Amino acid sequence: MVYDVAIIGAGPGGYVAAIRAGQLGKKVLLIERDKLGGVCLNYGCIPSKAIIHLAHLYKKIKWLNEVGLAIGDVKLDFKRIRDWKEQVVDRLRKGIKFLLDSYGVEQIVGKASLRDYNKIEVEGKIFEANNIIIATGSSPLDLPNLKHDGRDILDSTAMLELTEVPQRLLVVGGGAIGLELGCAFQNFGSELYVVEIMDQLLPGFDKEASEVIRRSIIKKGGKVYLSSKVLEVKKNGKLKVAIDTQGKIEEIEVDKILLSVGRKPNNEDINIKGLQTDKKGYIIVDERQRTNIENIYAIGDITGPPFLAHRASKQGIVAAEVISGMKSAFDYRAIPSTFFTDPEFISVGKSSAEVSKAVIIGKFPFLALGRALTQGFSEGFVKVIADKDSKVILGIQAVGEGVSELNGEASLAIEASLTLEDLGFVMHAHPTLSEALMESAENALRKAIHILNK
Ligand code: FAD
Repeated sequence: MVYDVAIIGAGPGGYVAAIRAGQLGKKVLLIERDKLGGVCLNYGCIPSKAIIHLAHLYKKIKWLNEVGLAIGDVKLDFKRIRDWKEQVVDRLRKGIKFLLDSYGVEQIVGKASLRDYNKIEVEGKIFEANNIIIATGSSPLDLPNLKHDGRDILDSTAMLELTEVPQRLLVVGGGAIGLELGCAFQNFGSELYVVEIMDQLLPGFDKEASEVIRRSIIKKGGKVYLSSKVLEVKKNGKLKVAIDTQGKIEEIEVDKILLSVGRKPNNEDINIKGLQTDKKGYIIVDERQRTNIENIYAIGDITGPPFLAHRASKQGIVAAEVISGMKSAFDYRAIPSTFFTDPEFISVGKSSAEVSKAVIIGKFPFLALGRALTQGFSEGFVKVIADKDSKVILGIQAVGEGVSELNGEASLAIEASLTLEDLGFVMHAHPTLSEALMESAENALRKAIHILNK
């Protein structure tokens, strides 16, 4: 049989593309060498957020004792936490399988290799398809002098499998994955050290917001080394780490290291003659997810950064629709980035550092927001950046507890090219965190009510 579409990789890119192609009546084959749901469901977004949520509650319980809701000692049972996390993942995986079956998607487990522009080999068997979508994702990167060993130096997958909280944890790499897990384990009680080679945490994102996260880590007793790198790790029972921090050498001792310094493409089985990639091996695609080979498409992490599940899924939908003859295209303007750090951080559209034309910026601090104070926090802010003339919103950044839930409105504002007036005009329910979005738009227009409009 010749399939209409064969998809390699069943992460949030591949399985979503399969469902959409199935909805559109295509004969679909989905090939996965590991588990349905890919990195996101099995080793990434979902298990990490389960752990992060519990770590947040653990921190909050301590706070409850401070404000008069005495709960007493809370015992951590990390083995049970791990089991619960697995149940969540398992339930979601079954949901995906149900949907794939319902849309008639044929699924096979095995390692796929591209053999020709429309032939895929899986475990010695050849499958033929008129169109192929490559959705093979990415894997963690090592450093030349620092490699994951699964015992002392861990990647995020091994970190999520720990059955006890390390007393002292060093995170190498202050990007999203390292910081999210680092903050979570700090909330569970680890002494946290973070080493980042650039001069800010979350390099490339709003510096002021990243400073809020840095200060929060330090306030809880952690240490952040910026413009720094790990020179050497000596393993003899404990881990002795030499850090070059802005020219000075500092030595620390830790129990575990989380190495989180970037990703590399899973391209070893899809290297096919003529397929265009960039220098790092990521597949080059256009806004319709087409590669330079007519019937081959690529989606998700294998097309390079930003490495985000919702981006992979959206690209999957676009690819499935384009294959089905629709005029779909991926819109790069409003890819939301959400970091489940402590506090959380979101960034949609452009940051102030990225815009070259004249802009106006509005800001509203959570210090002045009723909902934030009733939830027990005051750190952070919402920042809105708009074109100076048209007042069209170009970017929204927010840092603070629970701001991940502002993502939808922020993305909608940018995707729909709303103006500051639009966002400020909409009545936002009181008391909610989303009022900070409205007030920051009003602040840009110098008419916010609950702060002085300097
Ligand atoms: P993947 O999810 O990597 O799936 C690719 C699949 O292809 C894999 O299952 C793999 O086994 C399979 N495969 C590869 N080669 C072959 C082959 N030859 N044959 C058959 N199958 C093959 N993103 C967010 O948006 N939000 C988050 O909160 C978030 N948190 C994260 C936390 C962690 C700890 C990590 C590691 C990542 C996180 N991400 C998050 C990123 C997100 O997981 C990825 O961007 C997303 O999974 C990419 O989806 P994908 O479909 O491109 O690839």
